[in-house]
Amino acid sequence: MTLTDTLHAPQTQTDLGRHLITTNTRPDMVFAEGRGSWLVDETGKRYLDLVQGWAVNSLGHAHPALVETVTRQAGQLLSTSPAFHNRAALNLAQRLSQASGFDRVFLASSGAEVNEGAVKLARRWGQQHKGGAFEVITFEDSFHGRTLAMMAASGKPGWDRIYAPMPAGFVKARWNDLRSVEDAITAQTVAVMLEPVQGEAGVNVADAGFLRELRALTQQHRVLLIFDEVQTGVGRCGTAFAWQHFGVQPDVLTLAKGLGGGVPLAALLCPDALNCFQPGDQGGTYAGNPLMAAVGLAVVNTVCQPAFLQLVRDRAQQLSAGLNQVARDHGLAGERGLGLLRALVLPGPYAEQVVAAARQLQPAGLLLNAPRPHLLRFMPALNITEAEVDEALCLLRLALQQVSTCCAGTAHPPQTAHS
Ligand SMILES: *Cc1c(COP(=O)(O)O)cnc(C)c1O
Repeated sequence: MTLTDTLHAPQTQTDLGRHLITTNTRPDMVFAEGRGSWLVDETGKRYLDLVQGWAVNSLGHAHPALVETVTRQAGQLLSTSPAFHNRAALNLAQRLSQASGFDRVFLASSGAEVNEGAVKLARRWGQQHKGGAFEVITFEDSFHGRTLAMMAASGKPGWDRIYAPMPAGFVKARWNDLRSVEDAITAQTVAVMLEPVQGEAGVNVADAGFLRELRALTQQHRVLLIFDEVQTGVGRCGTAFAWQHFGVQPDVLTLAKGLGGGVPLAALLCPDALNCFQPGDQGGTYAGNPLMAAVGLAVVNTVCQPAFLQLVRDRAQQLSAGLNQVARDHGLAGERGLGLLRALVLPGPYAEQVVAAARQLQPAGLLLNAPRPHLLRFMPALNITEAEVDEALCLLRLALQQVSTCCAGTAHPPQTAHS
């Protein structure tokens, strides 16, 4: 076979990803288009999408305001480089400042990038105001991104070894355990960084009391409190930002995922008092990119409306009640979450089987995510309709039934092959 033959050979299911560097395993379908809460693959099959680009598509697929914004901005100005101002970035910074109360905004492209920016900002502040303190306390099972430093910051088991040696300066505390934070604080500590709801760890909601005491503890020790709201921010939890739900304001805030509504956009926010980078300390070719910033502004303008956030809370209540009913009917442990970031806890490690069964349902599939072997995660579009939530719950029941039927009537299906 010549190279040209190879390029034009029809692709079979198994060699779909043959030219991709191996990073994940993916199911054998290719998505062609999306609208609202629905995705369509190349064979025409429809899927109710409760993954939504990994909690990214806050307004679902192909939202008219985002389509209009991308089209208009692409025809007007795509990129200026961060060496110059552009109106879209200035507008988004102003809007985010207004919505959050933080004075200053740095725009970037990914969650890992702004989290690492938050750590850099804290270290700079530590050099200037805290005798060179540099250590950041993070939490077991936390997830802050995939750069080397953010893998070191994350508490995922094994992540300190796969690319060793890791950047130093991160210390782990235990989730919802104030004492473990207190024990970890030294003269070198500059910040505590956490997700108000741990997403990848399995939707672990922080105790409100823990966050309040953590706020007091960090103030007492002059340690910055950084909230990684990459997954929880911009309406996901039923308030514009999750810290507002808890009534605990961090010193530094990071946003990404839902902020871009599907385009790569992230933000680092801080008060004037922490605006301590010197020119040249921090940047990036796509920092403040006008195309992404324009889309972000359209997302924030839509999501951060009281009426929109009320709808998010209504749908969250409906989904929570529905998942609780499913849990009762199927003998499951229960559900948890905040807003439209929810999880259903299974009694055994068969979440991947349910995800596969849901996807393969006919005529329409359901897309779910299993961040843990015993846990299903739900992160629908924030504008999912009442009827779509009901339909998702119906499809979920069918998938759960299939998985338990294949286990000959036992309430606890067997473990997956690799578990
Ligand atoms: C997804 C995620 C990140 C990483 O964001 P990327 O855009 O993938 O770099 C960081 N923190 C949290 C809480 C996340 O959910």
